[in-house]
Amino acid sequence: MLKIFENITNNTKDALNKRKIIKQFINDGDMTLNNLASNINLSIPTVTRIINEMIDEKYIQDLGKLKTAEGRHPNLYGLNAEAAYFIGVDIEHFGINIGLCNFRGEIVNLKTRIPHKFENTKESFNTICAIIKDFIKAQDVKEDKILNVQINISGRVNPKTGYSYSIFYFDETPLSEHFSKKIGHHVSIDNDTRAMTYGEYLSGNVTEEKNIIFVNLSWGIAIGIIINGQIYTGKSGFAGEFGHVKAFDNEVICHCGKKGCIETEISGSYLYKTLLEEINNGAVSTLSQTVKKREITLNDIIDAVVDKEDVLCIKLVEEIGSKLGEQLAMLINIFNPESIIIGGTLSEAKTYLIPPIKTTVRRYSLNLVSRDSQLLPSKFTGKSGVIGACLLSRKKIFDDV
Ligand SMILES: [Zn+2]
Repeated sequence: MLKIFENITNNTKDALNKRKIIKQFINDGDMTLNNLASNINLSIPTVTRIINEMIDEKYIQDLGKLKTAEGRHPNLYGLNAEAAYFIGVDIEHFGINIGLCNFRGEIVNLKTRIPHKFENTKESFNTICAIIKDFIKAQDVKEDKILNVQINISGRVNPKTGYSYSIFYFDETPLSEHFSKKIGHHVSIDNDTRAMTYGEYLSGNVTEEKNIIFVNLSWGIAIGIIINGQIYTGKSGFAGEFGHVKAFDNEVICHCGKKGCIETEISGSYLYKTLLEEINNGAVSTLSQTVKKREITLNDIIDAVVDKEDVLCIKLVEEIGSKLGEQLAMLINIFNPESIIIGGTLSEAKTYLIPPIKTTVRRYSLNLVSRDSQLLPSKFTGKSGVIGACLLSRKKIFDDV
């Protein structure tokens, strides 16, 4: 832990309150002493004394007078941007996104689509570590100010123990330790969809809502669940494996080993596979020539939809949207959420993807229940993974102290 935070790591009353205050600022942003005192149940004099110490210790700042229409103008306090930095990493099928955020959770630098074809091998793991180290070296920030590197991992991940069971499961050592040794920084890992959900909840298209389903429609499909403002992880961190629910009688073996999973017909991998099949069978697409020259990526397909209005790609995206709506109707009936947010790589095709989802949701969900749920695209679309990772990187370091 950085020197300026040293006196908040012990178990004295003051240290405990300082950690509580940092968490408050992380969750709710800047606030007045009055709000802070009532939120964490301390007296105004106590909060004033502690905040002044934290300002002296240089990780909290006085932001000046809050502008209100009338009456007294209290001062606003918040986290000091330059006190610490955090790295967030999102591994996609054909590329890596890495970001750096400051203590206020503002993204300082973002590098997306760094070329790397993901494979579940030690070589792929080593390359990813090298890419992360290069990114860290290139930053205009002292390395010791970087407190954590959060890496999003798809599949079954236990964020508490640092074990990943679906990918990079090399031996009995937790994956977070393997990463940490190789990168030379503290590393936390979490399920990619959960990181996206957190990012969207903290600074995306969620405002006051507390019950949310976030859908990560990328190479695979999974959901993140927020119940009463808390991310729901289940017992071991495996909640949200929506993609591996059986929904289709299609005789397609899913990569999880089961048959007819949601992911076999509603996912980027399905879009990719079907597009190639259709092109090979003679269908025309703006990507027809590209596929002969090189391996196409999901981003190529999304670009064809959004920039080139490719009819074949649009048709496939609409089909996926329509099927997804049927499955979301089921989730709406079970959870009665306030918002369903569609994120992940495919959500970049929002004007083509969202309308068919809405149509089938209306058709198959209970009217009274679905009236409560607004359906929105993610604010960050394809970047939600890396932004979520940066914000989760900051949250975890203060959850754990
Ligand atoms: Zn499956």
